[in-house]
Amino acid sequence: MQYRADKTGAQLSVLGYGCLRFPRAGGRIDQDAVTAQIGEAVNLGVNYFDTAYIYPGSEAALGEALRRLGCRDRVYLADKLPQYLIRSRAGAQKCFEEQLARLGTDHIDFYLMHMLSDCSAWEKLCAMGIREWLEELKAGGKIGRIGFSFHGDTAAFVQLLDAYDWDFCQIQYNYLDEHTQAGRRGLEAAAARGIPVIIMEPLRGGRLITGLPDAARKRIADHPSGRSAAGWGLRWLWDQPGVTCVLSGMNSLEMIRDNVRAAEDALPGCLSAEDHAFIDGLKADLQDAMRIGCTGCGYCQPCPAGVDIPGVFACYNRATAEGRHAKKEYLRTTGLRRKGTGASQCVGCGKCEAHCPQHLPIRATLKDAARELEGPLYKLARAGVRILHLW
Ligand code: SF4
Ligand code: SF4
Repeated sequence: MQYRADKTGAQLSVLGYGCLRFPRAGGRIDQDAVTAQIGEAVNLGVNYFDTAYIYPGSEAALGEALRRLGCRDRVYLADKLPQYLIRSRAGAQKCFEEQLARLGTDHIDFYLMHMLSDCSAWEKLCAMGIREWLEELKAGGKIGRIGFSFHGDTAAFVQLLDAYDWDFCQIQYNYLDEHTQAGRRGLEAAAARGIPVIIMEPLRGGRLITGLPDAARKRIADHPSGRSAAGWGLRWLWDQPGVTCVLSGMNSLEMIRDNVRAAEDALPGCLSAEDHAFIDGLKADLQDAMRIGCTGCGYCQPCPAGVDIPGVFACYNRATAEGRHAKKEYLRTTGLRRKGTGASQCVGCGKCEAHCPQHLPIRATLKDAARELEGPLYKLARAGVRILHLW
């Protein structure tokens, strides 16, 4: 296992454990299996475990596994405040105490504002006194570091980076999302500010393993290195020095061992020029299977009506293969933002098409995307209804 330092000098394993998808049996989390998997990961050198208040049963199962294994002091715990549910400082405190109780711990090492999409949510929290509350918790040793997880576009991400002296942040990033959400430019902006970046969705919710088209699968099978699809996706991230820790939603012993194997030589610059060309080939295979050939270059931005064109197309391209997951991401990245950045906001001015190097029919495709991605839930969210419990 390789380790990379955070702002405090703490050595984080480059492979972190994403605790959203714990194994289940009979509709419930299988605690014995969770304990065995957490124990295996800890023994193999994983020391960063990421959960959230809204991951069903995850905090309690993780806490129970660490209690049974007696290894709380060997790991860093990351947990998230569901900021979208918080209405007051007292409400945040209540939620935090619940999290400590579920985890069976007296402190949380990495504490994130969950799912910020732009500065407005952070400003709202500041107006409630949450920033001072976080700083008091930190001063009292109840939390170790203050950060946020992000699902918006690059410009909003950079604004958020500068809105506070963050200890760390967490973004969705993988070789298919190189130019969407925070993207490579966001990663580099965080690195330039000395902010460690934790990566979520490194394999696009499994898409870069099980959702690969046949051409890409064959490429991987024929490659002399014998690397797995996961190994390629993870190494693409570890190659980049701005990446501190990559969260993998591991839910079998086999997956843990495969991911740990890939992490053995996970040094910055670990990919050769040939490796990069190979991954470009995988990306091209994936893009060939997509509905619109948007490369995410961003030349069409900014749209005067606020449409996040590359973000919309990234979700639209994935909608066939990923169904509900893509719709959820679309809602998170465009619908839950104060001003909204969705496809239906397009007023048809045509400015974007004049700048698109791929000469894409942007306006027509946005109409198709809006029809497909903006269902009743999206409309409720845009109307200001709190819909979290519905998805
Ligand atoms: S055509 Fe639509 S998406 Fe393109 S710039 Fe104009 S409003 Fe924005
Ligand atoms: S300019 Fe064209 S290819 Fe580039 S992000 Fe916009 S739509 Fe996609």
